[in-house]
Amino acid sequence: MLEAAIRDKYQPVIGLEVHIQLASDSKLFAIEDFAFGSEPNTHLSPITFAHPGALPSLNKRCIEFAVKLGLAVGSEINTHTYFDRKNYFYPDLPKGYQMSQDREPICKGGSLRIRTAKGDYHTIKIHHLHLEEDAGKSVHDQSPKESFIDLNRAGVGLIELVTEPDLRSSEEAAAFMAEIRRLVRYLGVGDGDMEKGNLRCDANVSVMLKEATEYGTRAEIKNMNSMSFLEKAVVYEIERQIKLIESGGTVIQETRTWDVENERSLSLRDKESADDYRYFPEPDLLPVQISQEEIEAISQEIPELPLARFDRYHKEYGISENEAWSLVEQRADSDYFEALHRATTDPRLAANWFMGPIRSYLNEHQLEITDFPLRPAQLLDLINLMQEGQVNRQAATGPLFKAFVADPEANVLRIAENLNLIINNDSGELEKYMEEIMTQHPKEVSLYRGGKKKLMGFFVGQMMRKLQGKGDPKVVNQIVREKLDNWDN
Ligand code: ADP
Ligand code: MG
Repeated sequence: MLEAAIRDKYQPVIGLEVHIQLASDSKLFAIEDFAFGSEPNTHLSPITFAHPGALPSLNKRCIEFAVKLGLAVGSEINTHTYFDRKNYFYPDLPKGYQMSQDREPICKGGSLRIRTAKGDYHTIKIHHLHLEEDAGKSVHDQSPKESFIDLNRAGVGLIELVTEPDLRSSEEAAAFMAEIRRLVRYLGVGDGDMEKGNLRCDANVSVMLKEATEYGTRAEIKNMNSMSFLEKAVVYEIERQIKLIESGGTVIQETRTWDVENERSLSLRDKESADDYRYFPEPDLLPVQISQEEIEAISQEIPELPLARFDRYHKEYGISENEAWSLVEQRADSDYFEALHRATTDPRLAANWFMGPIRSYLNEHQLEITDFPLRPAQLLDLINLMQEGQVNRQAATGPLFKAFVADPEANVLRIAENLNLIINNDSGELEKYMEEIMTQHPKEVSLYRGGKKKLMGFFVGQMMRKLQGKGDPKVVNQIVREKLDNWDN
């Protein structure tokens, strides 16, 4: 561990290159689909292999996704764009080159607002977004002596989003990735699943003395596919560089990898430069033209962004930070909550229902909100019964909720009646019950009247027992108090 005083002399600087796997039905330049976890080498066509004579054709959906994400972060859309070949050899790259974009990426500039776990907001500038195809996968853990190649993923469409070096800590880097994850989910551009490698990033890390005016030399840590690896790797790399500088060494520009088991970064290779790749325009594809009409149509599809929703839930509705994050994390959850709070006109009430009975039900049955049997309007009928005082909260969120979910087309009032859950608000009957109770408990009555007011709770409990839970606590309390105060037996 570094001494705080030493660490405090330095300013870490971080820039991310984020890879987002696109949720298109087919690959970027070929017709085959791809599903994570399928049999190795079963999603391959001559195009993926670049067999002689096989010609790529561009997947328009992927262009739309890139434009959509670009618009959401305020990029300028490049209406005349094209693809380049990036040439290098690697066993998981059957063509010997990757189709990518070098000179004219599809989106330039833009920014993304993030909120860290501490609650600070930062606006991180984006350098550009470009489209490229993914490589296959080398598999090293199946045999001690051999490595295998699975090319299913080769050719799948990716967006690479490159930030400016605007991030200043591992927390900010993690907050940025979390925001990108929500964003791609909200836009339907990708599923953002880091565990499956559908969202991953390279972190460029450097440190500089706080009073310095130029950035230090950076190291790039490749391919992080988990939020906790990212945070740990950035923290480690910052410390490594500070220690190196403090002991008189110099940081060299290089590519490193995160060694998950030993929690350290390791040098992979010297940093290659763009020239090494012999980029040239892809000869098998026409340049891409994007019209203003297309851009306009795509911009219509952009929903309210997740951080704006978070702010509204937390600041306007007073929903706690954790609950607000949990509501916005998945778009479908957030959309359901939106519909429910509009229906009930009470965001706090809607949040309680969502975080309480709905979440428990989904967890118990391992379902997503999209599989939840009740539409918000149906659930509103149930909530109204409770708000009108026809059933109490316990009944509404417990047995009535359960029965209604099992039979969503039924009338919820009928269900409540059949289950005998309707509250007894017949004051004549309630008074009669109370009189019976007081006759049975003369000692408690006289203690109460002698000043032991705490015994209210005892009588309310007795009443609820008689009512088998079907009492409105407010009404019951009122009758209990009145009867006790006016009892003249
Ligand atoms: P390259 O093309 O060699 O990968 P770029 O200039 O495109 O280099 O930068 C790649 C990433 O590195 C960007 O996310 C950028 O913000 C980041 N970056 C550039 N310089 C630094 C630095 N000194 N410290 C940290 N990150 C940096
Ligand atoms: Mg780069």
